Amino acid sequence: MDELGADVADLVADYLASVPKRPVWQPVPAEERDWLAGQALPPSGRPLEDLVTDIRERVLPYPMGNGHPRFFGWVNSPPSPAGVLVEPLAAAFNPSCAGGEHAGPLLERTVVRWLAELVGFPHPPGGGLLTSGASMATIVCLAAARQRAARADGWDVRADGLSGQPPLVLYASAEGHSCLPKAAELLGLGSRNVRTIPVDAAFRMDVTALRAAVAEDRAAGRRPFCVAASAGTVNTGAVDPLDEIAEVAAAHDLWFHVDGAYGALGAVTDAATFGGLERADSLALDPHKWLGVPVDCGCALLADPTIARDAFSLVPSYLRDEGADGLGWFSEYGTEQTRPFRALRVWATLSHLGRDGVVALVERTTGLARTLAGMVERAEDLEPLAPVTTSIAAFRYRPPGAIPDERLDELNRAIPAEVQRRGRAFLTGTRLGGAEALRACILNPATTEEDLAILLDEIRAAAATLLVTASRPG
Ligand SMILES: *Cc1c(COP(=O)(O)O)cnc(C)c1O
Repeated sequence: MDELGADVADLVADYLASVPKRPVWQPVPAEERDWLAGQALPPSGRPLEDLVTDIRERVLPYPMGNGHPRFFGWVNSPPSPAGVLVEPLAAAFNPSCAGGEHAGPLLERTVVRWLAELVGFPHPPGGGLLTSGASMATIVCLAAARQRAARADGWDVRADGLSGQPPLVLYASAEGHSCLPKAAELLGLGSRNVRTIPVDAAFRMDVTALRAAVAEDRAAGRRPFCVAASAGTVNTGAVDPLDEIAEVAAAHDLWFHVDGAYGALGAVTDAATFGGLERADSLALDPHKWLGVPVDCGCALLADPTIARDAFSLVPSYLRDEGADGLGWFSEYGTEQTRPFRALRVWATLSHLGRDGVVALVERTTGLARTLAGMVERAEDLEPLAPVTTSIAAFRYRPPGAIPDERLDELNRAIPAEVQRRGRAFLTGTRLGGAEALRACILNPATTEEDLAILLDEIRAAAATLLVTASRPG
C-alpha cells in the first residue's frame, strides 16, 4: 500500500494535470475497445502494480471528456479536487452507511443539512438522504408523495398497491427530465398518468396550463397528487415559476416536488429566480453536477421526512435500532440497504469550497454562459434559442442566407458528433421547441473566455466540413 499508494497518487496528479493538454475526447481504437469490453475472467490473479500499469496505459487515455475545460456536454462536471483526494479514504474505511453509530451516517446528517442550507430549503432534522443521483432521489420523493396521497384518501398503497383506486396524476413540464416519467412508471403510476404541461417562450412551465390540466383531471375523476417543477432544466437551464406553482400545489393539495438536480445550486446567487423553492415538499439535488462532487452523489431533501419513512421503512428484526436520535436508519428512507460513504466526498468538497467558494463557482460559470450567449448573439452565423438562467447556453448554427428549416435541423443535429470527433471541444445537442439545438453547459471553473471562442470556432469548422460533405455529388 505504501509504495503503490504513492504511485497511484502520482498518477492521479499527472492525469489531472494532463487533462487540459489532451484531446477532450477521442474514439476508442478497436483493439483497446476489445480489451476494455471483452476481457475474459482471469483464471488467476496478477500483482497490483500490473493493474496500475493497465489503468495508466489502457483506461486513462479514454475519458468521457468531463474534466476538460472545453467539455460542454450534458451536465457533467470536473471532479472537485477535495472529492478526488478523499475517495481512497472512503474506500479504505468502507462502511455501509445504512445507519448506525459510526462516522459515515453521522457525517451524512451534516452534509444533507449543509446542502439544504445552501439552497435555502427548510431542513427538519433528518429530512433527507444522499442517493446515487437525482433519478433515485426522484423515486424517493415521488414515493413519499404517493404515500401521502394514499394516506389522505384512506388507503394503504404499500399493502394494496394501486389497484382499485382512481389514477394518481403527476404534472411535469415538457422540459422536465425523463427521470420523472421513469419514477412514475416504477411507482406503478403509469406514464399515461403523467401530464406534460407546455412551456412558455423561456421554456418555463405554463402555470395557466397546469391549472387547467389539474381541473380537467379532477373533473374526470382522476386524482391529481403531485406537481414536479424544474429548477434548472437540462436543455436550457430554465427555472419554472416556483412560487406560482407552489400556489397551485397548495390550492389543490398537490405534493410540490422540485427537480433541482443540476440547477438548484443557482439559488446561492439568484434568490429571486428560485423564490418558492423553500415551499417545496421535496427537492432532488445532485452534488455530482454543479458542485463537482465525484460521481455518484444525489440528494433527496424532504420537508416532512416522516412521510418518506412511512413509504420505505421495513426493518427486519436483525436491523432494529432504536437509536439514531429517533430518526432511524437512512435505509428506512429510501431504496438502498448497504449504502456507500458518499458523505465524505460531499463533506470534503463543501469544506474546501465553503459557502464563498460555492458562490464563486456558480457566479463564474453562469457568467461564462452569459458571455457565450453574448458571443452567439453578436455572431452572424449563430442564433440564440433560449435565455441564460443558470450556466447553460442554447443556440444553433445558422449560416447566412436562406436555408430551409429541415436543412438547418439536419446540420445542427450533425454538428455535435463532428465537434466531438475533432477533439478540441465537446458539446451535445437537443431538440428545443421543435428545432435541433446546440447547448453548452458550463460547470468547470477552469474554463476561460478563450475556451468559449474555441468552441465557437470548432462549431464553425464542423459545420464547414458537414456542408462540404453534403454538397459533394453522389
Ligand atoms: C442529471 C439530472 C437528472 C438525473 O439525475 P441523475 O443524477 O443522472 O440520476 C434529473 N434532472 C435533471 C434536471 C438533471 O440535470
